[in-house]
Amino acid sequence: MVNYKDLGLVNTREMFAKAVEGGYAIPAFNFNTMEQMQAIVQAAVETKSPVIMQVSKGARSYANATILRYMAQGAVEYAKELGCENPQIVLHLDHGDSFEICKDCIDSGFSSVMIDGSHLPYEENVALTKKVVEYAHQFDVTVEGELGVLAGVEDDVVAAESHYTKPEEVQDFVSKTGCDSLAISIGTSHGAHKFTPEQCTLVNGVLVPPPLAFDVLKEIEEKLPGFPIVLHGSSSVPQDEVETINKYGGALKAAIGIPEEQLRKASQSAVCKINIDSDSRLAMTAAVRKVFAEKPAEFDPRKYLGPARDNMKKMYEHKIVNVLGSNGKL
Ligand SMILES: [Zn+2]
Repeated sequence: MVNYKDLGLVNTREMFAKAVEGGYAIPAFNFNTMEQMQAIVQAAVETKSPVIMQVSKGARSYANATILRYMAQGAVEYAKELGCENPQIVLHLDHGDSFEICKDCIDSGFSSVMIDGSHLPYEENVALTKKVVEYAHQFDVTVEGELGVLAGVEDDVVAAESHYTKPEEVQDFVSKTGCDSLAISIGTSHGAHKFTPEQCTLVNGVLVPPPLAFDVLKEIEEKLPGFPIVLHGSSSVPQDEVETINKYGGALKAAIGIPEEQLRKASQSAVCKINIDSDSRLAMTAAVRKVFAEKPAEFDPRKYLGPARDNMKKMYEHKIVNVLGSNGKL
């Protein structure tokens, strides 16, 4: 049993309370590789932002759960080395789908877990979430639950269509389960292809997706005043990265994300955690493809993973400063 506190990590309780109060959101960036981890820490330290580093089931099988935990511990030490005296870094399990995987993460040093029972019948979701909360709270680990279904594909999480969270269920769910935050569905979506062109409107040559359901968010906020709300699937899919990828041999078709304006608005509400994964993948791939195309004789991984790291760091900083507003909050 490893307790996250011994690793220098923190849970989400205090940072979410401050974020809801202060009208900003904490970035939750997924990571699998050392370069992503370094870029996340550099961006968080330079902007003085708290940060959630999250690990999906896919990341656990790709990189190994033990290694990822040591990387998170390394992230804390690295942040200190970069001059941050008191880093606020959370190691979070993204989309835990069973009690066992949540327990395994809690026992190995995670400071926060998500139990995603959103695909289950309501009462089963309540029971499973409650079971995870009861275990997690013994170790002061915070738990994110989910109500409503997001469309899209993210590692093993696949859903053909979304179902908005029902505001009439949220109070009952939170009081019965004791969860610390709640992921909701108001129109965000997993992956880099969040909307088909047919779902969008063409404005000045740009495909604009349908707006998020801010009316549903407002109703949820009224039912749960001050309670931390989480948005998944909130990459913006920057078109310049998509163009770079396609220019240098990629074949991404109609990749469309959530406009940053919408996320900025959400950050100012009770939404206090915003999940971003695809934008990091795009930033990394664009930089790697560019090096491969421009310097085909290059074969030193540092020569393409280095630019990939720099490009991801730039994207993380942009999100923190210009979208979520969590800069200067340490
Ligand atoms: Zn998600």
